[in-house]
Amino acid sequence: MADLVPAFEPPRIPVRGGGTFPVRRIHCVGRNFADHAREMGARAPASRESRGRPVFFSKPADAIVLDGRVPYPPATGDLHHEVELVAAIGRDAGAGVLAPADAAGLVFGYGIGLDLTRRDLQAQAKAGGLPWDIAKGFDHSAPISELVHAADAGPLEARTLSLEVNGQPRQSSRLDRMIWSVGEILHELSQLYRLRAGDVVFMGTPAGVAALRPGDRCVARLDDLLSLDCVILPPLS
Ligand code: MN
Repeated sequence: MADLVPAFEPPRIPVRGGGTFPVRRIHCVGRNFADHAREMGARAPASRESRGRPVFFSKPADAIVLDGRVPYPPATGDLHHEVELVAAIGRDAGAGVLAPADAAGLVFGYGIGLDLTRRDLQAQAKAGGLPWDIAKGFDHSAPISELVHAADAGPLEARTLSLEVNGQPRQSSRLDRMIWSVGEILHELSQLYRLRAGDVVFMGTPAGVAALRPGDRCVARLDDLLSLDCVILPPLS
């Protein structure tokens, strides 16, 4: 039977050294840095033992932006940047819960991305006890860098994730300040979903989130390992 409408083509993220990574799902973690949880008015955990469970949400795969060009989205006056580490899953997990140490073996590579957020819509959703979807999962809401193979990335904990906007520093944090490590996040996700090749996971943002306007230029970095250059364009008419 022939397709009667055009089939969805997954976004394909370039991989350093050659080839591409077709995206299946985008999982995201909320509140994975205590300083950002506090700036959002949430109570940050006092210790690893009292950290509870991470908050998860998702974006559609076609929210990925590969060319760094982001039209200012509709229905918001408060578009915020959130710079994040992104882990890309390279093979299907088995059924059941992944141990944190085993979860790391599923990671194909790493990139950095922006979890763009319509903050005004998120605030309304939170106040009304409503889902975050329209605040998070909109078109062009997930600009991402190229990926580097996990073996080439080396240990991530001592690396610094940062974002500047129009040359001014906005966000900066070492990755060992994440409340849940990559393996721990994948362990938690595996209790909710079966992880598969093509899934990407945005790992949460440090403090310093703020508004973007058309014309703004964002440069995200993970030390000298990865960079992502983005420009906010006028709204699509
Ligand atoms: Mn985020």
